[in-house]
Amino acid sequence: MIEDSVSVAVVGAGAAGLTAAIAAADTKATLPGRVVLLDGAKRLGAKILVSGGGRCNVTHDAVTPNDFFGNRNIIRNVLATFSVQQTIRWFASLGVDLKHEPTGKLFPTTDRARTVLDALLNRAQGTGITICPDHRVSHISRSGSEFRIDHSHGSMRTARLILATGGRSLPRTGSDGFGYQLARNLGHRVTSTVPALVPLVLEHSMFHAALSGLSQEVELVTIVEGREVDRRAGSLLWTHFGISGPVVLDASRFWTMATHHGVRVDLCANFVPGRTHDDVKAWFLTQVAEHPKRSLTRNLALLIPERFARSLCLYCSCDPQQSMAQVSRIDRNRLLDALTRFRFPVVRDRGWNFAEVTAGGVPLDEINYRTMESKVVPGLYLTGEMLDCDGRIGGFNFQWAWSTGWLAGQSAAGSLPTQSKPPSDL
Ligand SMILES: Cc1cc2nc3c(=O)[nH]c(=O)nc-3n(C[C@H](O)[C@H](O)[C@H](O)COP(=O)(O)OP(=O)(O)OC[C@H]3O[C@@H](n4cnc5c(N)ncnc54)[C@H](O)[C@@H]3O)c2cc1C
Repeated sequence: MIEDSVSVAVVGAGAAGLTAAIAAADTKATLPGRVVLLDGAKRLGAKILVSGGGRCNVTHDAVTPNDFFGNRNIIRNVLATFSVQQTIRWFASLGVDLKHEPTGKLFPTTDRARTVLDALLNRAQGTGITICPDHRVSHISRSGSEFRIDHSHGSMRTARLILATGGRSLPRTGSDGFGYQLARNLGHRVTSTVPALVPLVLEHSMFHAALSGLSQEVELVTIVEGREVDRRAGSLLWTHFGISGPVVLDASRFWTMATHHGVRVDLCANFVPGRTHDDVKAWFLTQVAEHPKRSLTRNLALLIPERFARSLCLYCSCDPQQSMAQVSRIDRNRLLDALTRFRFPVVRDRGWNFAEVTAGGVPLDEINYRTMESKVVPGLYLTGEMLDCDGRIGGFNFQWAWSTGWLAGQSAAGSLPTQSKPPSDL
């Protein structure tokens, strides 16, 4: 079998891989050989197309290391090398203008993820990258200064290898975690991987299904083995299976990580964010004094959505229609506890098919953050979601993919010896 030989091979044509390949091809127009982009999927960019509800939340106007989980020193350095401003300019150079939303999220002005994918693919084709869909990589080995890549249509050799195989989220897009095996075979460690930005399933007996579709502001606290590890406020969405919405998705990694390690984890809510148990108790007593005949639900609806107030009353075995004056002290205390210290009966997360990202992966300290080159295997570069770094909701995960991809592509191509351009008449 004749083996193809290329200068830079990128495995995985998602956000990070496309960026890496383009950066490599753009860095050296005089590369001694080709840049090849291999992907197991027949159709490229499935995850970009479904992202941001089909609009692709490309980045965020303020990206800091605190928006990520992982080694924040390394994350800071990577983000500084290819910043949000560079990302915005880079997308503009590809013909994609981005607009800011009041939340700080940036989307293409067309509101279509397709615009982002098409621009990346057009640029990749325009720079002469050989794009190979339906080329699933099954094995990679190193011999001398080269890598041999076995894929579903044969094999190839390359001097520089960029791994951009993603994590385990949404496996039907092709990111099924096999990339970790490739990295391990080459000598890297991989930390435990768990779903992140994932909805949570509640005990069947809970009232969530009756509230399906309702969204409300809450403060969520995650407590692992009695220690608070995360506190955040935001929008919670009740669903037919349990809870979702930005605040739940952002907090979910702490629940999945603790559960994976077999330690006790409690997810608790204050449904009156910004107010303590005592604040709400004082408010409640004032309401009893001022509006003794008003119904309990109507009164609670001043603080929380009425549908939720009704469900919460029933959950606490309180008659929602009783007047404020009729609420017994025991009922009141149960209600106040449920309002401000509610413990969600989480039974499981919704799994990889519903997770937006992967927490865990190849440790960042095995990578040179200036180049994304492996410290373990010279000539190997690692990018994107396969690394042990996950961001919160808001465009941060794509920013990680663009930054690491660009850095790896540029460094991989830049490290190759230059070949002078052949005369144009040859
Ligand atoms: C529903 C959903 C919505 C999201 N929305 C947003 C959003 O709006 N904003 C945001 O910032 N983030 C969002 N994310 C997260 C974001 O999409 C990912 O963090 C990002 O796509 C990761 O990019 P990547 O290139 O590292 O990996 P991926 O995009 O997963 O790409 C990996 C590629 O490698 C290929 N591959 C894997 N194994 C092999 C193999 N053995 N051989 C060949 N090819 C292989 C796969 O086919 C795939 O194409 C969303 C995720 C999901 C699931």
